[in-house]
Amino acid sequence: MEIKAIRGFNDILPDEIGKWQFVEETAREVFEGFGFSEIRIPIIERTELFSRGIGEATDIVEKEMYTFIDRSGNSLTLRPEATASMARAYLEHQIYSFDPVAKLYCIGPMFRYERPQKGRYRQFYQIDAEVFGVENPMVDAEVILMLIQFLKKVGLENLELQINSLGCRACRPRYREELKNFLMSKSFQLCEDCQRRLHTNPLRIFDCKVETCQEATANAPQVINFLCAECQGHFDKVKEYLEMAGLEYILNPRMVRGLDYYTRTAFEVVSYSLGSQNAVTGGGRYDNLFQEIGGLDVPGIGFAIGMERLISLLPKDKEFIQHPHLFVAALGEESYKEAYQLINQLHLEGVRAELDYEGKSLKSQMRKADKLKARFVLILGEEELKRGRVVLRNMETKSQEEIPIDNLLKSIKEKIF
Ligand code: AMP
Repeated sequence: MEIKAIRGFNDILPDEIGKWQFVEETAREVFEGFGFSEIRIPIIERTELFSRGIGEATDIVEKEMYTFIDRSGNSLTLRPEATASMARAYLEHQIYSFDPVAKLYCIGPMFRYERPQKGRYRQFYQIDAEVFGVENPMVDAEVILMLIQFLKKVGLENLELQINSLGCRACRPRYREELKNFLMSKSFQLCEDCQRRLHTNPLRIFDCKVETCQEATANAPQVINFLCAECQGHFDKVKEYLEMAGLEYILNPRMVRGLDYYTRTAFEVVSYSLGSQNAVTGGGRYDNLFQEIGGLDVPGIGFAIGMERLISLLPKDKEFIQHPHLFVAALGEESYKEAYQLINQLHLEGVRAELDYEGKSLKSQMRKADKLKARFVLILGEEELKRGRVVLRNMETKSQEEIPIDNLLKSIKEKIF
């Protein structure tokens, strides 16, 4: 039986990879411009890092983690997100000892046992950016600005920035109680999952897609009306800084984010070009995460962009594949030797050059060059070699010229670069 990939796990094929590379390169360029450094963290961590960091009463920890016992009996988990691991690395390597402020980003796969559908996979890629060690609302706005700058730079349109504040340990419990009481009176409308969430994590009910649950929360109290003075002050400043940066936003009081660790600022960027899974990216502040995993009191803010969703939104007319600069068409044994030497030198000089390995006819080689969208074709027939002049054809203009075989490398480079 043919072995196929697991459901929800995708191959990213060569004809798609140009988009991925473009997105990753743009992220590196934009983020590093904002003073961020890349960090690479393991794909597997101790399960408790996520259960404590993300929170027991979240969908991720309750039912979406890929958890297994290794051969030594440790419970390990494939990372469902990167923030907790980045925080762990910051603590473990005492990155704070030199400067408490760390601006870090990470690109890589995450794993969640969700029901696969368009835009939702079991292995998916995220670009994560986090700032640890700053409470100042200016950094909330700066992180959002960087995100929007990045999304615009990759060419996304039709975006909407939504923001909210989720309060903190001082003010959220009162809101949570209020929300719970309100929803208790409507519990008959709630789905089975939300009946449970009512007791474990009532804020999550806002995210439920079941229609009756959405109806139940329609007139629910809003967290924004329960903020303590500090949280209100923080949120006002974030909005002020966003306005100073010329960023438009929409206040979405129903956006509460799925993870337990969020405090204060929460944001999402949604695209009206996506279907039901319309969030391209989400993030926020999490001033309690560090205490959960390591005891130190370090504030943090960041976001995670879903790469598959982002890539599905890239402009359709943009070319992402790097086509060959040159296709070398060789005919006969002697000319293949010449072509082999030439192409090796071209590769060393950074020229994307291709050769046909199968000794096909000139016509068939020209067809291949056309298919590969090579910019030039060099015809290295034995006749040409004898004459000491070869033919260079420009595939865009269809014009061709003869060039001397001496100094061929130099002449080709002049044409190409
Ligand atoms: P989260 O870590 O849940 O805040 O998600 C951040 C972003 O990751 C979302 O806005 C999505 O773009 C993306 N994302 C989350 N879960 C999945 C998934 N199962 N498949 C594809 N993308 C996802």
